[in-house]
This record gives sequence, C-alpha cells and structure tokens, in this order.
Amino acid sequence: MNVPLDQLYRLQDRIRFVQSRKRERDTIPAELTEVDREYREKVETVATLKRRGTEAEVERRRANAELSEHQGKLRKYQAQLRGVQNSREYGAVLNEIDAVEKLVRSAENRILELEEVIQTASKELASREEILPLASAEAEIAKLEASMHPRDRAEFQRLLEKKGGLAIVLVAGNSCSACHVKIRPAALQSLKVGREIIYCDSCKRILYYDMQKS
Ligand SMILES: [Zn+2]
Repeated sequence: MNVPLDQLYRLQDRIRFVQSRKRERDTIPAELTEVDREYREKVETVATLKRRGTEAEVERRRANAELSEHQGKLRKYQAQLRGVQNSREYGAVLNEIDAVEKLVRSAENRILELEEVIQTASKELASREEILPLASAEAEIAKLEASMHPRDRAEFQRLLEKKGGLAIVLVAGNSCSACHVKIRPAALQSLKVGREIIYCDSCKRILYYDMQKS
C-alpha cells in the first residue's frame, strides 16, 4: 500500500462517522421521527438548490448562444448601412438595427439575471451542506478513495472489514491502541520516520504514529 497514513486514518474516521450516523438514523425511535423529517427536508432543499443551479447554467449557455447570434446580425446590418443607396433603404436597415439591439440588450440582461441565480444557489448550497455532515462526510470519503490506487483501496477495505472497522490505529505510549501490545523498538523507530507501513505484530492492524499526539 502506498498511501499517506494520515489520509488512511482520515478515511477510516469518515467511514466510521458515516456508519454510526446511518445506524443512528435507521434505529431512531418514533419520537425522533420529527428530527428525521427535518433531515429529509434539508436533503430535499439541497437537491432543489443543486437542480436550480444546473438549470440556470444550461439556460445561461443558451442565452449566450442567442446573444452571439444577435451580435452577428447586428454587425451584418451595420455593414449594410454603409452601402445603402437611398433614404428609404437607410430607414429600413436602421429599423432592423434597432430591433436587434433590443434583442442584444434583453439577452445581456437575461444572462446577468441567470448569473445571479447561479451565484445565489451555490452560496445557499454551501451553507446548507454544512448542516448535512453526513453528505459532506460521504463526499470526503469519495474524494479520498478516488485519490487512492484501486488495489490499495480494495486492500484497505478488506482490512477494515476484517478488523471490525479499525484497520489503522494510533500508537499510544509505545503500544498498539487497539490490542495494547508493546511495539518493538525497531518498528517504533520506523513508525517515527513514517515512510513504510508497519503492522501491529499482535492484531495486524496498520500502526499510525501521530507526531502531534504521541
Ligand atoms: Zn495491535
């Protein structure tokens, strides 16, 4: 496995958090369904905000395409204006220019409106997602896992399953914090350098020497 240990430790922490939250959510007694309802409402609000933002982005792209089309027409009429022969033709082209200019302005205004919708939706989304620790923990897990080699990811997953959700454990007082067996001095030395993965001799979990805590 070639993954920084603090990353593995964080991944395990987030996985455990999500699991415990889900367990809580799935076993809530009847009097707590109100909390559950509120939670579901928050999830729905976030989904709505996301949808609103995406729709506005699609519409903005369309409005941008329309705008450049109108601008193209405008340039064409302005070129025509220079070649007109009489005042009647001149008046007709001016009318066309006037109409296209209105379209350009309204497309520009629409784009500004849509940009505001997109901005508001993304700002609200950021603040709502903070209230949804579960969703953000899941997103973090996905991100951490995506940065790992599939082989490492599978190996870590297997170890997590085999070791009851604790695949990587802190070193505490020169011992493994899971099984409390003392760590050999040589292994401890390697842990402090922190370049290779060291497993506990006794429980075979990955040992994590936290420089700040140890
Ligand atoms: Zn151990």
